[in-house]
Amino acid sequence: MTDDRPYGGGEGMVMKPEPIAGVLQAIGKKNPAGRVIFLSPQGRTYTQETAARLATHEHLVLLCGRYEGVDERIRANYVDEEISIGDYILTGGELAAMVMVDSITRLLPGVLGCEDSAENDTFSRGLLKNPQYTRPREFEGHMVPDILLSGDHAAVAEWRLLASVRQTLERRPELLARVVFTKEELGVLKKNRLLEAVEKYNTIQQ
Ligand code: SAM
Repeated sequence: MTDDRPYGGGEGMVMKPEPIAGVLQAIGKKNPAGRVIFLSPQGRTYTQETAARLATHEHLVLLCGRYEGVDERIRANYVDEEISIGDYILTGGELAAMVMVDSITRLLPGVLGCEDSAENDTFSRGLLKNPQYTRPREFEGHMVPDILLSGDHAAVAEWRLLASVRQTLERRPELLARVVFTKEELGVLKKNRLLEAVEKYNTIQQ
């Protein structure tokens, strides 16, 4: 049996400690450096930064709860870190574990076709990624911005930075607080009258 009624009464079932401890001990013998992560709505909220940090570990053990969760003695004595994927309750930790596996593995060398894709993703440096376009050039009367077809790499890079900053200001301005802009980027923001709006949220460079 892997679950039992909670001591003290109350609804639901709790996952028993012995089977989990047995598995973690067996894994620990093979991979003593493995980091044990418990998926739990009470953990620290998972972010891209967490994914990047965990991607540097050789072995991760993802422990998923069910029912009312796992016996507290497992959490207290076997778990290195508790992670939540957001402020809502899932039926079990499996989907949360899959979210972590997907977001961590795409940061590992060789997983993505183009290494730069992950580096330029939304959240990697705190900015939302600029909008993307592909063929056809005209779709239902809407055109792709001319600059993206100009072949002028510097102008395209500037357009992407501005689009990215505008998108972030509009949707997630609080993310701007930790973005470090280069001197050139600050110049571009100033030239396009975005510096003042950015500085409301970003005090790093003032
Ligand atoms: N009774 C628990 C509470 O209120 O904190 C919730 C238990 S939940 C129904 C069962 C399991 O789903 C948890 O032990 C955890 O492993 C997983 N889970 C639920 N929500 C989660 C979340 N937001 N992030 C990560 N894991 C979650």
